[in-house]
Amino acid sequence: MNIILLGAPGSGKGTQSANLTKNHQLKHLSTGDMLRAEIAADSELGRKAKVIMASGELVSDDIIIAMIESRLDEQGALFDGFPRTIAQSQALDRLLANKNSQIDYVIALDVDQEEIIQRMLARGRADDNEATIRNRLAVYNKQTKPLIDYYRSQGKLHHIDGNGDIDQITARIEAVLKS
Ligand code: AMP
Repeated sequence: MNIILLGAPGSGKGTQSANLTKNHQLKHLSTGDMLRAEIAADSELGRKAKVIMASGELVSDDIIIAMIESRLDEQGALFDGFPRTIAQSQALDRLLANKNSQIDYVIALDVDQEEIIQRMLARGRADDNEATIRNRLAVYNKQTKPLIDYYRSQGKLHHIDGNGDIDQITARIEAVLKS
């Protein structure tokens, strides 16, 4: 089983990933976590990514796709924060098809804009200041939202109310995976 968690920054993808990987044998693949690990290791990629992430823009598709490709194996994956562009979605479909696999569920976490901003400010991450948050939401609307239509047309899209209690949201997702 391969699942994509789709949603704006601050919509709870990371939190829900932690719950879902407790309940299922899924490999958690978060491109944001991978990039933060590169920054912590002060690698060349990390130094490049740090500037881009601080601005709220997206790291290039080539770099992101290579990071994912090197981590795909036979185990089912939970994709968190990836794909973020149509080019990344198409690349992921190709990479999975090469392994005779596919995306089974795309879970779109719908959260009110006000709650998103409050959550992100509470998180206190390096890229969680107001100017960067604003740009990340704009980048999401422009580059990532089109993925909703991409996966809807494949019949894989499931909208989930991502407001409110963490465990209740997990239960809503689990209900989709069971159906
Ligand atoms: P996240 O932790 O998923 O919110 O990602 C933090 C930042 O890392 C984003 O604002 C981007 O700059 C970068 N990033 C993470 N995932 C991707 C991706 N799939 N494509 C491009 N940039 C990404």
